[in-house]
Amino acid sequence: MSTTTLSKESKDTTANAYFDDKKTFFKSGNTLPYTFRKEQLKKLKAAIVGYEYDIGQALKADLHKPDFEAYTSEVALLHAEVNHTLKHLKKWMKPESVPTSLIHFPSKSKVYKEPLGVSLIIGPWNYPFQLLIAPLIGAIAAGNTVVLKPSELTPHTSKVIEDMISHTFDRKYISVIQGDGAKIVPQLMENHRFDHIFFTGSVPVGKIIAKQAAEKLTPVTLELGGKSPAIVDHTAKLKVAARRIAWGKAFNAGQTCVSPDYLLLEKSIKEEFITHFHNAIEQFYGELHPDHQNYGRILNQKRFDTLIAYLDQGNIMYGGKTDREKLFIGPTLIDNVDMESPIMQEEIFGPILPVLTFSNYQEVIETISINSHPLSLYHFTSDKKNEKLIRKKVQFGGGAVNDTIVHLSNPNLPFGGIGSSGYDAYHGKHSFDTFTHKKSIMRRGTWIDLPVRYAPYTKHKKKLAKLFM
Ligand code: NAD
Repeated sequence: MSTTTLSKESKDTTANAYFDDKKTFFKSGNTLPYTFRKEQLKKLKAAIVGYEYDIGQALKADLHKPDFEAYTSEVALLHAEVNHTLKHLKKWMKPESVPTSLIHFPSKSKVYKEPLGVSLIIGPWNYPFQLLIAPLIGAIAAGNTVVLKPSELTPHTSKVIEDMISHTFDRKYISVIQGDGAKIVPQLMENHRFDHIFFTGSVPVGKIIAKQAAEKLTPVTLELGGKSPAIVDHTAKLKVAARRIAWGKAFNAGQTCVSPDYLLLEKSIKEEFITHFHNAIEQFYGELHPDHQNYGRILNQKRFDTLIAYLDQGNIMYGGKTDREKLFIGPTLIDNVDMESPIMQEEIFGPILPVLTFSNYQEVIETISINSHPLSLYHFTSDKKNEKLIRKKVQFGGGAVNDTIVHLSNPNLPFGGIGSSGYDAYHGKHSFDTFTHKKSIMRRGTWIDLPVRYAPYTKHKKKLAKLFM
């Protein structure tokens, strides 16, 4: 795979390819009509179908993703997103009439939806296809031109993305830049003022991007990570809870930004829950071994070593099977963890699940506040009062009651974090909004020009202002 850096010699041509041409294309107005955007979305949809096999193979090579997981989480989700966008785009693009107060009589007020311009979309390695293409759908829908930066850690998928994009779109409109993000992205941002940056990745890199973007006042969407808790109380259907948590944790070997990061179990149900969890994993995989076809692998040995170190930070209650050469770590439950240890301070991002217990909901709230603002929260309960308590008392990006992960598959729900898990949101109409500027226009009539606002200001005019404003 070619690695592109913006060296001085190549700067002119490369910069043209990556930015200037896109700015020119954007300014030409070509991306404005509904018909153009619809056409591009259809081209993208067809390309995803056309490259489906290659995508699956690349995801297998990069992450050993099982076919089913690759298809559902990286391809099917995009079809749902693009279909939803095609269905509603015309309506979303329409200017919105809003009421105007009497004081502005005669006038009409409207909000016009305009594209932001040239957008840079930066993706992570864990869902390397979907997390780059889902925001692209929003950017196209909103009429932007786009530079896509896939993760260098999943080279096979990044190569397929580049092939797919370069065979589908004019590079003046959308193109891919490859290479080490830490080198390429700061250079790109230094050399050009993007109109929007959409970043999915880690908190530390999110901070670097936000800081550099601030220099040019470039708006940024940050889709970051964090420690997402799963709470289970004694009113939950334990068998279902255990299956859904085991599924959410084992999917992509726990390398999911919204994967349950740790468990908060009500003390009285701990043993029973663990048994159900154990049974669930056995039902899913039978005997789980390092060559299992239905279970993902850890990205690389560096990530493997980070995860393995967590296993020494508590007692392994279930699982603990590992194979460094095959990058395999089986789903593992671990208890007796110290809140000060790395396993409870860092986002785990792997198939290891610390088990904490609680006696009352105050303890739950206090524990979550140690790693505040999780990206997601999962609450297994049938007690509506406690469901409401957690929803109201804990700040988190989004989540599910009685399930894990699934909330992100509904394009009607905005997906995004809060505080340290990120800002802004996307999916469906929210993606369109993220890449759209809302231009407010008040259109005044001229057949009358009331003198109240003009000097000289009198007591009578102030009285009128008080009455009408
Ligand atoms: P990362 O932050 O290391 O890298 C993400 C992207 O940023 C990559 O394309 C990389 O090349 C680029 N990059 C790396 N260093 C850079 C720098 N100094 N300047 C500019 N760009 C740079 O993240 P990752 O390891 O690929 O992904 C894992 C993280 O992403 C986890 O924290 C996970 O929670 C988070 N994540 C969040 C979501 C979400 O939707 N909120 C989804 C998936 C992953």
